[in-house]
Amino acid sequence: MKNRHGTPFEHAAMTFYIEAPIFVFREFHRHRIGWSYNEVSGRYRELDPVFYVPHSERPLMQIGKPGHYEFVAGSDDLFRLMEDCHRSTCEDAYTYYKMMLDKGVAKEVARMSLPVGIYSAMYATCNPRSLMSFLSLRTKHEDSTFPSYPMREIEMVAEQMEWLFSHHFPLTYQSFCENGRVAP
Ligand SMILES: Cc1cc2nc3c(=O)[nH]c(=O)nc-3n(C[C@H](O)[C@H](O)[C@H](O)COP(=O)(O)OP(=O)(O)OC[C@H]3O[C@@H](n4cnc5c(N)ncnc54)[C@H](O)[C@@H]3O)c2cc1C
Repeated sequence: MKNRHGTPFEHAAMTFYIEAPIFVFREFHRHRIGWSYNEVSGRYRELDPVFYVPHSERPLMQIGKPGHYEFVAGSDDLFRLMEDCHRSTCEDAYTYYKMMLDKGVAKEVARMSLPVGIYSAMYATCNPRSLMSFLSLRTKHEDSTFPSYPMREIEMVAEQMEWLFSHHFPLTYQSFCENGRVAP
């Protein structure tokens, strides 16, 4: 690991079933190398009314300069405003989606008005090397040689994947952590 001899870590596979909002999948699918994806089709299946609304502990405000942003908590009023806006937007969008389906509009057309906060589901298969590359970018960790500042929602997914990785590949995981969380 420390010499970045990476190919030995390409000979195992993990398949994750992941449910997350579409805006998280947009970031996820940027990870191209050593990954295979299959996602639920909104063209062929009616989408369920499951939407992401941030939790009250999710930092709301972005301060600082581009590249050095910090995210800090907002006031209770700001949280309520954000929550109300998300909820009513999602409810309205889903009402129109259903109305279009009921009138005979195709699923692939009706879905165009749904927001990116709607949940999707996918299988994602990778090898330990590609997973370490993903974890190094999509988690924020004080031991990282190269710190990353991921969006909190993809980090929440990455943390669960990391937990599974640590249980199924304990030696590789230990070596990853001991070597600055740099993918070999
Ligand atoms: C904090 C953060 C902010 C980001 N902000 C933005 C943004 O503002 N806009 C945006 O568009 N994206 C953004 N991204 C996405 C980022 O640019 C990458 O697309 C994403 O992190 C996937 O990383 P990757 O290309 O290393 O992964 P993979 O595609 O899995 O590639 C893995 C590794 O393979 C090698 N590789 C892959 N493809 C090539 C290639 N074509 N040529 C040479 N080597 C290759 C590289 O070594 C690469 O690290 C951001 C990512 C993070 C973590």
